[in-house]
Amino acid sequence: MSKTLKIGCLALQGCVERHRPHIEALGMDFAPVKTAKDFETVDGFILPGGESTTMLKLIDRFGLWDTLAEQFKAKPVWGICAGSILIAEKVFYSSKRVGEEQTKQVQKSFGLIPMTVERNGYGRQVDSHTANVNGYEVSLIRAPIIQEVSNDVEVKASHQDDPVWVDYGQYMATTFHPELTFDFPSPMHTAFADKVKAA
Ligand code: GLN
Repeated sequence: MSKTLKIGCLALQGCVERHRPHIEALGMDFAPVKTAKDFETVDGFILPGGESTTMLKLIDRFGLWDTLAEQFKAKPVWGICAGSILIAEKVFYSSKRVGEEQTKQVQKSFGLIPMTVERNGYGRQVDSHTANVNGYEVSLIRAPIIQEVSNDVEVKASHQDDPVWVDYGQYMATTFHPELTFDFPSPMHTAFADKVKAA
């Protein structure tokens, strides 16, 4: 009998457990992961939505950067919202304080997908909204905007003319959260599970 595949979700911060019913509906195991030892046991990674700056701090604090970078070379990775920011090649965000010029700042990332994302591109928390993506209801929560993708990145869905679901070999990113509905499994979880099976 073939072994049950296991999808790990990086569980330092953010929306983790809501992925479980989607993954289990696909007949796979789900595991929140946070140590180098956990990482070795999974066949694919979800980097969840949350706050990318907080996740970066925790990755640094626990000394996980190199182990994760090594694991990501070999396994499928799906970045969701903050997770998509962590795996983009280029990340920028604009900041403006009262009386100051808007400045562009850049942020460190694993650079797995050749694309440029703008953090909080749709605006602030009050600008969060739901959308129908390929017939499925999803949430954009202080989501980034994918401003540019390289030619070899496949755009699987767009929203307001910007890509929101992209695919690049073993890597996938969605700027929205598909895990918050009760309609299991989401088409995005199904697509990621297919990647893990193929790897
Ligand atoms: N705004 C967050 C960030 O910049 C992402 C929000 C989310 O993951 N829902 O990291």
